Amino acid sequence: MQKICVYPGSFDPITMGHLEIIKNAANIFDKVIVLVAINPGKTHFFNINERADFIRKSVAEIENVEVDILDGLLVNYAKKVGAMAIVKGLRAVSDFEYEFQMALVNKKLNNETQTIFIPASQENLYLSSSIVRQIGTMGEQIKGLVPDVVHDIIKEKLIKRNNLEEEKWAFMKY
Ligand code: ADP
Repeated sequence: MQKICVYPGSFDPITMGHLEIIKNAANIFDKVIVLVAINPGKTHFFNINERADFIRKSVAEIENVEVDILDGLLVNYAKKVGAMAIVKGLRAVSDFEYEFQMALVNKKLNNETQTIFIPASQENLYLSSSIVRQIGTMGEQIKGLVPDVVHDIIKEKLIKRNNLEEEKWAFMKY
């Protein structure tokens, strides 16, 4: 039987921290399904299709990773695809309280899917999508914080939309 896990999040946008978790999960499981969650209560910087597309491009070379959009309850999706685990990344103790609560709720809803926490490496401990957005919005380079292919797409879009010169592009005008 294939060992499948799901890795849910907003990925607004995907960061090197997310990519690290995906790679680690891909080494453990036969298949990893990265799930971009639709959250009507949250406003996002990038729309759901852009966020999914950024992830697809970032994982193009990892054979056992798929990307899908999550519309509905995570545990139902996990059950539908036969996932044995929900993977979550942990950066700091501050992540833990919320994630632990979610893990308990998900266990209550579906006892067959275990939540597995993968710790961030020291290098990515500080990294979050919101930090990337903040840095980018201030016009600073986000190279190294997000996968190169994502960086390049954002840059390209900016140049196209704003007709900026390559060196002068700024995330805020996107
Ligand atoms: P963010 O908190 O950056 O907006 P998401 O809501 O998209 O991220 O998070 C999806 C999952 O990825 C969560 O389990 C979160 O803890 C994990 N994660 C986010 N950033 C990192 C990182 N730098 N290192 C490890 N895990 C991370």
